[in-house]
Order: sequence, then structure tokens, then C-alpha cells
Amino acid sequence: MIFGTFNVYKLAEILYSRLTTGSRITDIWQESRDFVELLPTERKYPFKSGVNIMYGCDNFCTYCIVPFVRGREKSRGSDEIVEEVRRLVNDGVVEVMLLGQNVNSYGKGLDEDISFSELLKKLEGIEGLKRIRFMTSHPKDLSDDLIGAMAASEKICRHIHLPLQSGSTNILKRMNRGYSKEDYLELIRKIREKMPDISITTDIIVGFPGENEADFAETIDVVRKAGFDSAFTFIYSKRTGTPAANFEDLPSKEDTDRRFNRLLEEIKEAGKDRTEFLVGSTVEVLVEGVNTHDEGFLTGRMSNNLIVHFPGNKDHIGKFVDVKITESKGFYYFGTEV
Ligand code: SF4
Repeated sequence: MIFGTFNVYKLAEILYSRLTTGSRITDIWQESRDFVELLPTERKYPFKSGVNIMYGCDNFCTYCIVPFVRGREKSRGSDEIVEEVRRLVNDGVVEVMLLGQNVNSYGKGLDEDISFSELLKKLEGIEGLKRIRFMTSHPKDLSDDLIGAMAASEKICRHIHLPLQSGSTNILKRMNRGYSKEDYLELIRKIREKMPDISITTDIIVGFPGENEADFAETIDVVRKAGFDSAFTFIYSKRTGTPAANFEDLPSKEDTDRRFNRLLEEIKEAGKDRTEFLVGSTVEVLVEGVNTHDEGFLTGRMSNNLIVHFPGNKDHIGKFVDVKITESKGFYYFGTEV
């Protein structure tokens, strides 16, 4: 059976044909047709769920294959999204993660006139829904409206994942990211001005074609100035079919490895400063499960997406509890229930 990402929802049908006819099936679509709503799902957690609000991407970052395999950006109608979240809440969900490659451009191309921050406001009105998260935000499309909506909200979590990719404006241009180092730092300033307690995480690529020592120093400079709580770091790897696959000036493996290790150290250092300040405070966490290393401990997630381990009883799973933070371990904490 050969099929693609646009018709993966037809898996059961394709499987049925294969089993009943015995013949080989090839069903490849060049683009997505309609959204398929209300498919049955089995959720990993009964109390939280992802909700796709859009598919595809129009950005064509030069290193990325997503726009070629997922097609053009397409948003789901807001009524359908609200309806899905309502159904989830009725089913016991208290936290949703809105998903899209670039949620900040939600609404583009829809008949209804709606932005991402307006969608968030609609979802905020759903009774019983306690937390709203979203991912991923593209820095070039993050509006003042969205920052305002987050700051004013009781339900939107105090965390934003804002992929930087590189701190060098030259490299950002080669990546076709649509913002400069200064634009990015200005965004961080605006976000922190409205929400000083927010946790900001990022993605960074090291060893992109053309990256030299000066470019890398710009990345380190942003890491120091932005104060990321954590970062996902990647060594550039070529994706066949993307424009960057034809760029020839790859830095040497030694330079890339050295820069990568240096970046990890800088991120660890920056994260330490940010996380220490929570020790001694009491935070509300959603209990996600039993600690994988010690069954006497539970693992809970704070609004800022950081994890706390604390002694507790399984009955709390899926519930909100207050925990006093007693120790920081850098990217996670220990605490006691209060
Ligand atoms: S990196 Fe993200 S924004 Fe850029 S093309 Fe890929 S999916 Fe789109």
C-alpha cells in the first residue's frame, strides 16, 4: 500500500481494499482536498490533547522540506475548532495544545475574517477548559495583538516556543526566515515587557551553509540576551529537494561540532539563571503521571511548561495541585505539595 500524508486518514479504507482484493494499492495525492473532521482518536492522556488548527506551511525556509511534503498553509474554520475543543472538554480534557507549523498566521485564506489572537479569545470562552498552549510561533508573524491577548488571558499558558534558528542576520537571510537578529530581540523584549514571568524556548541550527565564526558569535549573543529557558539544538543536515541542499559552503565538521558544544554550554548557563528564581515559590501544576524513575513521585507541568517532581498519590493524575518548589535541577524541579 503506497499513500501519502494528504490521504493518511484513508488508511482503514486502503487496508480494507488490500485485504479484500489482495492487489497492490497506490493512492498518492498532489495536494490536500477537504479537512476530515471528527475522526475517531485514541488519546495518550485523558486530560490533555493536541488540536490541529492548520496544516501545511507557506514559508519555504531554505532548509525545510515541510512545505513540499505537507503542501500550502490551510486553516480550519474557527467554529469547527471550537466545536472540537468543546467535545474534548466534555470528555474530560482541561488543557489543549493548538498545533500548526505557523500558528501566528492562522486565518489566512479563510472566508471568515479571523486572526490567531481572535481564535484564542473564542477558545478562552469555553467553560471547563483551563489551559491553552500553542505551537509553533513563527517570529515574523507574531503580532502585538497576540502578545496582548496572552498577557490578558487567564488560560493561555505562560510559555512561548519561538524558533530562532540563527542569531546572524546574514544566515537568517540565507535561511529565508523573514526577520533579523534585531527584530527577534525586539520581539523578546516586547513579550517580556508584558509577561515578565513567561518562559521562552527556542530551536537553533548550527553549521548552516555559510555560517562563519562571526555568525556563530551572533547566535551566542542572542542566547545571552534572550534568556531562553531551554533550547532544542540541531546540527544542520541537508534535506534533498530543498534550496539549501544546493548551497556549497558548509562549515567543516570540526567547526560545527565545536560550535555545537559551545552552544550547549551557553544554553545550560542561561537556563540556570532563569530557573533558579522559581525556588521557594508555590505554583499550580497539572499532574501528568507517575515519575518514570521513582514511583513515589508524581510529575506535574507548570503553566510555563516546566516540569516538577513531587511526592504524591496517583489519584492526583489529571488534576491541578499547588506545589512549593524546593530545588531547581536546571530544566526541571523538585517540590512538595501544599
Ligand atoms: S521551518 Fe517551519 S516555518 Fe519554515 S518552512 Fe519549515 S515548517 Fe515552515
